[in-house]
Amino acid sequence: MPYMHLKVEIDPSSGFCNGVVRAVGKAEDYLSSHSSLYSLGAIVHNSSELERLERKGLKIIGMDDFASLCGDTVLIRAHGEPPSTYRTAEANGIRIIDCTCPVVLALQRKVREVYQRMREEGGQVVIFGRDGHAEVNGLVGQTDGRAIVVGSVDEIGRIDFSHPTALFSQTTKDPEEYAALAEEVRRRRPDAEVYDTICRQVASRHKSLVAFAESHDVIIFVSGRESSNGKVLFDLCLSVNPRTYMVENAAGLRPEMFRDGDSVGVCGATSTPQWQLEEVAEEIKRATF
Ligand code: SF4
Repeated sequence: MPYMHLKVEIDPSSGFCNGVVRAVGKAEDYLSSHSSLYSLGAIVHNSSELERLERKGLKIIGMDDFASLCGDTVLIRAHGEPPSTYRTAEANGIRIIDCTCPVVLALQRKVREVYQRMREEGGQVVIFGRDGHAEVNGLVGQTDGRAIVVGSVDEIGRIDFSHPTALFSQTTKDPEEYAALAEEVRRRRPDAEVYDTICRQVASRHKSLVAFAESHDVIIFVSGRESSNGKVLFDLCLSVNPRTYMVENAAGLRPEMFRDGDSVGVCGATSTPQWQLEEVAEEIKRATF
């Protein structure tokens, strides 16, 4: 890259959320005295962090592998799991290291409780979330698979408003989108119950990220492409700063992203480790890509 003078700042509110810090910490604790540990699904949607943990002995497995284990130890990640996973573990003598985030656990309990009441009242549970996402699967599992999953306001037609309705959100969804969906649901069904279930850490990060993205010429958003929260936060940055680029790691940096004198903001998803933000910031400062 031709010589450029760039000012670089890392967003102080980026980095792992509490739920991911806790899950990664528990995995590392276990691996400090054991040679390997299974994780049901990717513990974090970030390939560089996964590679780091895999070098320590973490093995990512899918549900088919899990169901064929017997007597092993398996970590359940922060996203949580449906009740069927715990039944399989019990039947196969699998020891669980349960890293379900306490915020997700509380949401699962609330969904289960409301579902049981709704079932008696002939009502329905609606979940605003990404169909097939691990956390959403865990929530749908609390409702015997009956919850209706809505990914956006455009999918509101999936809801039958002739029934009592209770609305929940996946913890990492966009608070503004959820508010718009809730308004539309209440317009069609004024007695609908709407639960405020977006993670506080995610919601406050939205506010601070807007200010951060507006205060820099360029935003380098570091995230795995699989991260649901990464997609939401990247779109948020892009909406206030058109010079926002997503990279998975420092190798994704390109000279054409920068202009001489730019102030560059580096930020990321709840699944982006601090060390990776620092690595990307260093690479921009060196500008050798
Ligand atoms: S985003 Fe919030 S709810 Fe989800 S794992 Fe992180 S801390 Fe827990």
